[in-house]
Amino acid sequence: MSEDAAIVECMFDLEVLAAVDPHADEAALIEQIDWLERVKSAAAAGQARAAAALDEKRRAEEAAAGVPKAKQGRGVGSEVALARRDSPVRGGRHLGFAKALVHEMPHTLAALASGALSEWRSTLIVRESACLDVDDRRRLDAELCADVSKLEGIGDARITAKAKEIAARLDAQAVVDQAAKAEADRTVTIRPAPDCMAYVTVLLPVAQGVGVYAALKHSADTTFDDRSRGQVMADTLVERVTGHPAEEPEHVALNLVMSDQSLWGQDNSPAVLDGYGPIPASVAQGLVRDAVVDERSLATLRRLYRDPRSGSLVGMESRSRFFPKGLAGFIGVRDRTCRTPYCDAPIRHRDHATPRNRGGPTSAVNGLGECERCNYTKEAPGWRVTAGDVNGVHTAEFVTPTGARYRSTAPPLPGAPMIAVSEVELRIGVAIADLHAA
Ligand SMILES: [Zn+2]
Repeated sequence: MSEDAAIVECMFDLEVLAAVDPHADEAALIEQIDWLERVKSAAAAGQARAAAALDEKRRAEEAAAGVPKAKQGRGVGSEVALARRDSPVRGGRHLGFAKALVHEMPHTLAALASGALSEWRSTLIVRESACLDVDDRRRLDAELCADVSKLEGIGDARITAKAKEIAARLDAQAVVDQAAKAEADRTVTIRPAPDCMAYVTVLLPVAQGVGVYAALKHSADTTFDDRSRGQVMADTLVERVTGHPAEEPEHVALNLVMSDQSLWGQDNSPAVLDGYGPIPASVAQGLVRDAVVDERSLATLRRLYRDPRSGSLVGMESRSRFFPKGLAGFIGVRDRTCRTPYCDAPIRHRDHATPRNRGGPTSAVNGLGECERCNYTKEAPGWRVTAGDVNGVHTAEFVTPTGARYRSTAPPLPGAPMIAVSEVELRIGVAIADLHAA
């Protein structure tokens, strides 16, 4: 038994926790569901206490070692993320939440520990109180959560509204200032939706957001054709943003990775569209076909080579003889998203796993695709990242300051790996179509 498994075993028998008596009556089943929900809340309170304690210890150690205050505690959020099997962005939020609860909001923490609040509902309270100073935060905490009987039957929306109301009463100016600061967070994001669709989300100050929606609604009100209102609004948005009619999209480079069999219609393995994820072979074939027949487009193919056993990328034909550029492209296609476990953020940096100043070579094996945040985190004291080839799969190991180890493997290329191993089959071509404006 590993050391970790032994710790879990002596702390709690997880199998017993997850077991259900098949002969239990209905009332007993409901009681078990209720009790397990309390266990989840209590576990969240325990995680918050542990995270806040870790942060305090680390900062004390670093202060003693002479680390400047601004740099103390760097990377702790990412360690919490790895331990919680969550993304570093959420890890940072979990840590902020934990510190607020433990140091400033004892009643909310107690309500969480007793199961009166779920982790999400406590997060909502912490979030709404974030603009207040410590004394007001403590007042909000006491008013909302000191009497847990008042929390019974209160859902997410009502708890948020109550916390907002108390915050606005305690310090209206702080709430206004926070709103002004939030404007700086305006942004646009994209995430995959089902059925080969995508959600493009715009976070805007309320007046602009309402204005955008009203303008789109106005074009739906004044357009009379066979399209639905939603279709007119979506098409109008595309037209105004790209400057092209929706059915004639702007020409931008699309990186598409697919197996040669899929490209020629010989099999149906999904392709991968950079920045989106897997798409069906027929949709990818359509994109390539459109690029080939459209004389304003330029479709180019680049051959990729994969390990026939693991399906991992092992080589890439590069038009560029300039080594770092070709290498960066290779790492981007191989890793697809940030290689920190559970991160999934877009790649911003192609960096050395073992840094150059510690003898790490500039190579595909020692190269790693990472988001900005994770690249910065792994430079913090006590972090060590090594990369290597394990059975044909590019594998990176992350060791955190406490000695905890986490592994990440590069995703396989699209298409089924070949079963037989031979020189000939190593030549499996995979196409990238770069669609450029002519
Ligand atoms: Zn990352």
